Amino acid sequence: MGKLNDHGSISLDELVGIEDVIDDKPLNEAIENMDIALACLDNQFARTMLNKCCISNAVPMINGGGEAFSGVVEVLENGTCMTCRYGKDAAYTQEIISCQETGTRPVASIVTTTAWVGAMQAALALLNLAGIKGHSEGMSWDSGIVHDRPVGGLPWIKGECSCHI
Ligand SMILES: [Zn+2]
Repeated sequence: MGKLNDHGSISLDELVGIEDVIDDKPLNEAIENMDIALACLDNQFARTMLNKCCISNAVPMINGGGEAFSGVVEVLENGTCMTCRYGKDAAYTQEIISCQETGTRPVASIVTTTAWVGAMQAALALLNLAGIKGHSEGMSWDSGIVHDRPVGGLPWIKGECSCHI
């Protein structure tokens, strides 16, 4: 994976160019005290690291993101991992994609897209915490049309995932 040092720590500096350096112990300690985590991060690698900590602590993760007129929300739980879902190359990319017009590839994101993503993340988190079943495990919003988005691994990735075990 390349970004963990000899102590298994993660450098935020290496991830996003911020001076402060963290390791994954505080993240694991924070996650173990949470009932659910919402991923609203600007790069896929950070989402993957959060997902790994969530899997380790059996905490569901509500992933969300959007740009322009498209948004995605998905519930990752019961061991569903970003690597199986998106493939290793995508799961570990560190390109910063920000709707704040910063990062390596700033993107336009209209406020209604981010509002939809945030509202759906909150709704799915509340449903999950309330134990209400039968709702969508994922949704996409494309130019005003909402679609169901099944959440699972890529069809060509078979068997146990070696990345999050
Ligand atoms: Zn996996």
